[in-house]
Amino acid sequence: MFDNLQDKLDKAFHVLKGHGQISEVNVAETVKEIRRALVDADVSYKIAKEVTGRIKEEALGQKVLTSLQPGQLMTKIVRDEIARLMGGSVAEMDLKSSPSVILMAGLQGSGKTTHSGKLANFLKRKKTKKPLLVACDVYRPAAINQLKVVGEQIGVEVYSEEGNNNPVSIATNAVAHAKANGFNVVIVDTAGRLAIDQAMMTEIRDVHAAIKPDETLFVVDSMTGQDAVNTAKAFNDVLDYEGVILTKLDGDTRGGAALTIRTVVEKPIKFIGTGEKMDALDVFYPERMADRILGMGDVVSLVERAQEQFDEDEARRVQKKIASNKFDFNDFLGQIKQIKKMGNVKDLMGMIPGMGKMMKNIDIDDDAFKGVEAIIHSMTPAEREDPKLINGSRRQRIAKGSGKTIQDVNQLLKQFADMSKMMKMMQGGGGKKMANMMKG
Ligand code: GDP
Repeated sequence: MFDNLQDKLDKAFHVLKGHGQISEVNVAETVKEIRRALVDADVSYKIAKEVTGRIKEEALGQKVLTSLQPGQLMTKIVRDEIARLMGGSVAEMDLKSSPSVILMAGLQGSGKTTHSGKLANFLKRKKTKKPLLVACDVYRPAAINQLKVVGEQIGVEVYSEEGNNNPVSIATNAVAHAKANGFNVVIVDTAGRLAIDQAMMTEIRDVHAAIKPDETLFVVDSMTGQDAVNTAKAFNDVLDYEGVILTKLDGDTRGGAALTIRTVVEKPIKFIGTGEKMDALDVFYPERMADRILGMGDVVSLVERAQEQFDEDEARRVQKKIASNKFDFNDFLGQIKQIKKMGNVKDLMGMIPGMGKMMKNIDIDDDAFKGVEAIIHSMTPAEREDPKLINGSRRQRIAKGSGKTIQDVNQLLKQFADMSKMMKMMQGGGGKKMANMMKG
C-alpha cells in the first residue's frame, strides 16, 4: 500500500537533511519533489499543486520554530495535509433505523459482492447487528451464487428470488422479509456493468428510490486510479451516496484514488478493502492512513486489531497453564492461530512505526508460521504435551513428516525450551525482579 509514495516522499524530505533551518530555497525544492511524488501516485496535477501550495505556505510560516529539525517539521506538515486531503476524521455509517438499509453500487468487478459479504461480517461481529444479504444482480446467476457462497462462509442469510428479474421488487421484498424476521441491517448487492451506461444508472436509481437506503455505498477498485475518481463522480451525480468503499488497496502501490476521491467528490471513504478474505475490511481513518504513508506506523490500529481478536477465556486458560508450568505445543499452536487471525504479518509489521520501511523489500511469507505449524502437526499428541519425550529418532521422524530439516526441528525445540524457561522465570517473581533490574 502506498509503497512508491512513501519512498518518494522520503526522498523529498532528504533535500532538507543537513539544513539547519527551513528557507525559501530548500522549501521550494522539497515542495517540487513532493508534487512529483503526488503526481506519480496518480494524484491529478491540479490537486497536487493545491496541496503543495498549502504545504509551502505552512512551512514558510513556521520559520521561527527551531525546536524541530526541518525534515521533521516538513514530515509533520505533509502528514497533516495528506490526512486533510483524505477527509480528516473518520466517517461512520448511520445505522440507527431498524432495519437499516445499505445499498451497494459500483461497476462490475469492483468488489461489490465481496464487500457486501465483508460488511455483513463486520456488522455481525458487532453482536448488536443481525444482517441480511440481498442478491439483486438478476443478469448474472453466477453473481447470486457467489453471494450465497459468501453468505454461507460467514453465516449470514442471503435473500434471493429465483425467476424474478426485477431488482426493485426483489429489494423491496427483501426489506419486508427483514422486518418480518428480525434482521436489523439489510445489505443490497446490485448488478454492475463493465462501464457506466444509462440502463445501469436508471436501474440503480430506481432501486435507490424504492428502498430509500440509510447508507448508499459506492464500491470502487482503487487500482484504477483516476478512473476510480471519475466513476465515483458519475455515480455520485446520480445517487448522491453517503460514502465510498475503496477496494483492493492491498494491490495498489500508488494510492491516487485514496488520496483524491474525497476532494473531488466531497464524499468520505468509509471503508477500505485490503484482501480477498472476508475479514479484509477496515474502517478508513484518514489520519492513521497518513501516519502510515509517512512511515509513522499505525499503532492504534494494531492494538485495536489485537483487541478484536483477543479471546479472554483462552487467555485465562493459557495463563493457568503457564502458572502450573504446563504450557505445551498445543497451547503454542493456539497462540499462533490467534496471531494469524490478526492478519498477514507484513501488514501488521507495517503498522509499527519505522518498521514498514525496513520490511518493504523483505519477502515475508503470507503464512510466516507455516513451517513451525508443520513441525508441530507432525508431533504425536503425547509429544506435544511433553516435548521432553522428543529424542533423536523422534526428531528425525518429525523432520521427515513435516518436510523440514532436523536443524529446523532442533531450533524450534530449543526456542520452545527457552521460552518455557522465560515463562517460568516471569511466573516465579522473576518478572518483578527483572523489572527492578531494568529500573536499576
Ligand atoms: P463485483 O463484480 O463488484 O461483485 O466484484 P467481486 O466482489 O466479484 O470482486 C471481483 C474480484 O476482486 C474477485 O476476484 C474478488 O476476490 C476480488 N477482490 C475484491 N475485493 C478485493 C480486495 O480488497 N483485495 C483483493 N486483492 N481482491 C479483491
